[in-house]
Amino acid sequence: MYEVIYGDPEYVKTLQREKDGGIFHISGYVIYVKNDDKTYYLACPEEACRRKVYENTGHSEQPGKYRCDHCNRCFDSAIPFYMMSCKIGDCSESLYVSFYRQAAEAILNGTTAEQLRRLKDNGDTVEVEEIFRKAAFRHLTFTLKA
Ligand SMILES: [Zn+2]
Repeated sequence: MYEVIYGDPEYVKTLQREKDGGIFHISGYVIYVKNDDKTYYLACPEEACRRKVYENTGHSEQPGKYRCDHCNRCFDSAIPFYMMSCKIGDCSESLYVSFYRQAAEAILNGTTAEQLRRLKDNGDTVEVEEIFRKAAFRHLTFTLKA
């Protein structure tokens, strides 16, 4: 699985791959952006940590708080970070890649993970689907890291 480190809406005619120390540049289309409950993860608010946190259930001592096992404490809030799977390619080949943070935000036309989380939490499925629909079939140049 490749990680997209940059998605740029720059027009390039053909699918190109330039080997450059594990970095690839690919020009093609976003074929499909997976919209599931793993689109983003909730991360620890500590800047030096940013590991995945878990929301406490109603049965725990501090329900509704977010538990970070690394920091060994609970927080009132957590920060959503994108972690999306997408299919990109052109008419001859395609591959699945991961988009994180800013790269994912760019693919979703500037929708932040916080905005998406709010829409999903509010059950705005129509609006969420629209965001994912608009992300597909745009021609972009991707910078990929193996
Ligand atoms: Zn932490």
